[in-house]
Amino acid sequence: MFGLIGHSTSFEEARAKARSLGFDEFADGDLDMWCSAPPQLVEHVEVTSRTGKVIKGAYIDSVFVPEMLRRFKTAKRKVLKAMELVQRSGIDITALGGFTSIIFEDLNLLREERISAVQLDWQRFTTGNTHTAWVICQQVERNAPKLGIDLARAKVAVVGASGDIGSAVCRWLQRTGVGELLLVARRPQPLVALQESLGEGRILPLEEALPEADVVVWVASLPQSLTIDTDSLKRPCLMIDGGYPKNLDTKAAAAGIHVLKGGIVEFWQDIGWQMMELAEMAVPERQMFACFAEAMLLDFEDIHTNFSWGRNNINLAAMDLIGEASLRHGFKSLGLEPASSSSPALSIA
Ligand code: NDP
Repeated sequence: MFGLIGHSTSFEEARAKARSLGFDEFADGDLDMWCSAPPQLVEHVEVTSRTGKVIKGAYIDSVFVPEMLRRFKTAKRKVLKAMELVQRSGIDITALGGFTSIIFEDLNLLREERISAVQLDWQRFTTGNTHTAWVICQQVERNAPKLGIDLARAKVAVVGASGDIGSAVCRWLQRTGVGELLLVARRPQPLVALQESLGEGRILPLEEALPEADVVVWVASLPQSLTIDTDSLKRPCLMIDGGYPKNLDTKAAAAGIHVLKGGIVEFWQDIGWQMMELAEMAVPERQMFACFAEAMLLDFEDIHTNFSWGRNNINLAAMDLIGEASLRHGFKSLGLEPASSSSPALSIA
């Protein structure tokens, strides 16, 4: 059995969802009330692979909202309590979605093994970042040529290059062979370490990298205040919006700038679930975050272990393995072409 731990994208949206589900006391509650609310197992689901294999899963809402990010103790408790509920529910492998994996790493929750009477078993959890990194690389490799961008000569800026997903994307694109990797993040030291381990890549501040880049992979949570001078960008420019929340479509809206929601996959058939409506997917019946799909893939493959864990541990062999499983079981990376159901992937041409 697989599990997905998620959360709403905002407090306002969470309250609206609570109202629609008939939880009026939550819908009327203030942020303090939500801070003390326990996690909820909101949905059970059954998923059939393209191979015919059937697995069962559950969606656990951590009752965390991004407005709680600065309340460190609350954020920590929300994630750990959701993990405890997963374990009590007997779920074999669970993805930490949205901000929950970042809270886990940033607040070093590995130290917190015991919650109430439950000894947390880390083997039952995955960040899902290996599959996310693989999907983002597929999105670069499949969509750049459609825009006439020759990757072998292209400059690819990775914003968040020193992060868990960003460093994996750099290693993969190095193997693929791109013109030049432009490495962007705020702290120089981790970027230098990455550059040394790659033996290539140019470290640049964001404002210098963007005008040079044919492709920009965003794998950092960006501040709402960030603005992009679209006039200075190359045409065409492919932008993969792999961070969370996904907000580049408004920041980089201009002719010739093609923004694609990064790290999103589409399943080969509809799944009878409600949970992705919360995440504002274009086709919520079959689209989801690649990190969630990783938990399903691990369950389909009977790999009940923390496949993606810790920071900067993702290797190419693991990306190859999860990528092959992804294709075999019927997942497809979101592309610039219209999605299979009603709404198109985001494209600003
Ligand atoms: P990490 O914390 O490991 O890495 C974040 C990276 O972003 C670091 O290199 C960090 O370096 C950099 N960064 C952070 N803020 C900024 C900024 N303002 N400007 C430039 N660089 C910045 O995170 P992950 O690799 O685990 O995740 C990366 C992003 O992907 C997150 O936003 C996460 O929510 C999202 N994600 C999306 C998924 C999906 O869509 N399917 C699934 C999983 C994660 P420094 O601190 O030095 O700036």
